[in-house]
Amino acid sequence: MYKIFVTREIPGFGINFLKKQKNFHVTISPYDRVLNKQEIIKYTKGVDAFLCMFTDKIDGSLMDKIGPQLKIIANYAVGFDNIDIKAAKERGIMVTNTPGVLTEAVAEHAIALLFAVARRVVEADQFTRDGKYEGLAPMLFLGPEIAGKTLGIVGLGRIGSEVAKRMRDGFGLKIIYYDEFRNQELENRLGIQYVTLNQLLKTSDFISAHVPLLPSTRHLFGEKEFKLMKNSAYLINTSRGPVIDEKALVCALKKKIIQGAALDVFEFEPRLAPGLAQLDNVVLTPHIASATIEARGKMGELAAQSIIDALSGKKPQNLVVI
Ligand code: NAD
Repeated sequence: MYKIFVTREIPGFGINFLKKQKNFHVTISPYDRVLNKQEIIKYTKGVDAFLCMFTDKIDGSLMDKIGPQLKIIANYAVGFDNIDIKAAKERGIMVTNTPGVLTEAVAEHAIALLFAVARRVVEADQFTRDGKYEGLAPMLFLGPEIAGKTLGIVGLGRIGSEVAKRMRDGFGLKIIYYDEFRNQELENRLGIQYVTLNQLLKTSDFISAHVPLLPSTRHLFGEKEFKLMKNSAYLINTSRGPVIDEKALVCALKKKIIQGAALDVFEFEPRLAPGLAQLDNVVLTPHIASATIEARGKMGELAAQSIIDALSGKKPQNLVVI
């Protein structure tokens, strides 16, 4: 009998998929919250497979406490910066993620955030609910038009390229991008232009970040970068919180060095940098970019399939390789 532990209830058929396997004993955390390290150790000791969340920090010492029988850590996310991949490799433990199935969901959320912050949807909603609306006023909640503006994509991978395509074809923006790898085939196909990061910072009206969290992307946006951006520019982040120096962002937003920001991820999640929540020129969502019924369901199915493959001696499809 293989033992599998899942750290959180997840939507869709993934868990049932696991439970239907004859030789699987599946346990789900009894708590609908992030587990602390002691609780994770308690529930994972002796398991063969561990289906975990982005909020579970998994290092070599935890892998050792789980035990040498651990074959696979299936991360319920595409980013895998919460897992020490090198430590897993050294111990012969497979790590998988869930790429592709949440691309559209995250792209849609990045676009929703862009519109929400530029057209001041959240502020205006609050104003209306508060009973402050006294009839149409020409100066009320002015914001920039989005059509015809320049969107800078940082990280033209799966999600970045979907945002680029939708914003160019659907909303008439000019798209420029920066990535550590230039992709001319994609440039031609999407009708977009490659620029350096400095050029992108200087010329974009909107910037949307879609890079993974790596040493090279930590604080990719800080004080220096904000100063290069237009005073009228907006920064959207659905990638990973530490890609932005959040303290420097609060300062740039307060001083109107940039116009606004919309964030789904935070440097010290779930905590927010002091002062961030008090600002009017931000829109904040609690890491829900992939939270469509479809994406979250498919993520569960992919993670479950990875565990089934690994425990039946097959190579899982979404193995993370470093
Ligand atoms: P991807 O691997 O397809 O694309 C990432 C792109 O970033 C690649 O093109 C890569 O070349 C580029 N890149 C890497 N390092 C770079 C650097 N230093 N400078 C410039 N470009 C660099 O990944 P994806 O599926 O598009 O996902 C992107 C990220 O979005 C994930 O790693 C994850 O952290 C984040 N994400 C967040 C949510 C959410 O719920 N908010 C959901 C899914 C993914």
